[in-house]
Amino acid sequence: MSAMRTCHFDLHSHSTYSDGVMKPAQVIGRAAQRGVQALALTDHDELSGLAEARVAAEQAGIELIDGVEISVTWRGHTLHIVGLRVDPANEVLVSGLLANRAGRNERAERISTELARVGIPDALEGARAYVTNPALVSRTHFARYLVATGWARSTQAVFDKYLGAGKPGYVPHIWATLDQAVEWITAAGGIPVIAHPGRYKLSEAEREDLLSTFKALGGIAVEVVTGSHTPDQYGYWARRAIEYGLLASVGSDFHGLPDSYRDLGDLPPLPSGCKPVWQSF
Ligand code: AMP
Ligand code: MN
Ligand code: MN
Ligand code: MN
Repeated sequence: MSAMRTCHFDLHSHSTYSDGVMKPAQVIGRAAQRGVQALALTDHDELSGLAEARVAAEQAGIELIDGVEISVTWRGHTLHIVGLRVDPANEVLVSGLLANRAGRNERAERISTELARVGIPDALEGARAYVTNPALVSRTHFARYLVATGWARSTQAVFDKYLGAGKPGYVPHIWATLDQAVEWITAAGGIPVIAHPGRYKLSEAEREDLLSTFKALGGIAVEVVTGSHTPDQYGYWARRAIEYGLLASVGSDFHGLPDSYRDLGDLPPLPSGCKPVWQSF
């Protein structure tokens, strides 16, 4: 039996309030059981799970970091900006997120229409059986339905075949701007973090531009160690963070099993030379 690897900080996770499969209390319970000492719940465009998570965290004796993951459109790319230690009652943040969630239902209908064109009927109806927060219909819910009905073998395969950018069921959507996401997080007293930068299909020039623009807007950190990076990418993004004077964050991006790349806390330490984002807590 191999020893359980646990990073004491896990600063990116999801619950049923977005596209995770565990309730906030279950996420907290699992984190505590796995030896995580500080967990950020970062549901997509949504803060409503934090109250339940807080009660559970107090019972379990772990630190809950109030978080959110904001969907952003920047230069035609969808990016995710995590906010850590946000005030969930802040009106600028709450109203910004409400606006960002608003287009999801219409987008879901369009995704369903596009999937019908390639022969997959009633996908929205099917996806709704997996939706756990009616305000947050996500592509992940479509993916779970398409896997369950045999259209693809895994969530990843669904994105590769149907839901990823440029695929037949892909519907472009305009999310918040990068400026807005940083502004909302900052207004709520939080720390803006670029989530899983290695996942975006950016050119080298765009990567430089993103890092310098984000920094100039008041961005603080970059996820270096995340469930969606390879070990090579840990090193690459560690160097970029250091170069741009950004702190380094760590997060599994847990969505529940078996959907996640990584279990809670199952992350290696930050590469040497990085300044951990929790130094600013
Ligand atoms: P949405 O916000 O509705 O566009 O859905 C985005 C979510 O889909 C992300 O938060 C991930 O959970 C999931 N996702 C995106 N790309 C992939 C992928 N290639 N493989 C698995 N899940 C993905
Ligand atoms: Mn997700
Ligand atoms: Mn993300
Ligand atoms: Mn995430």
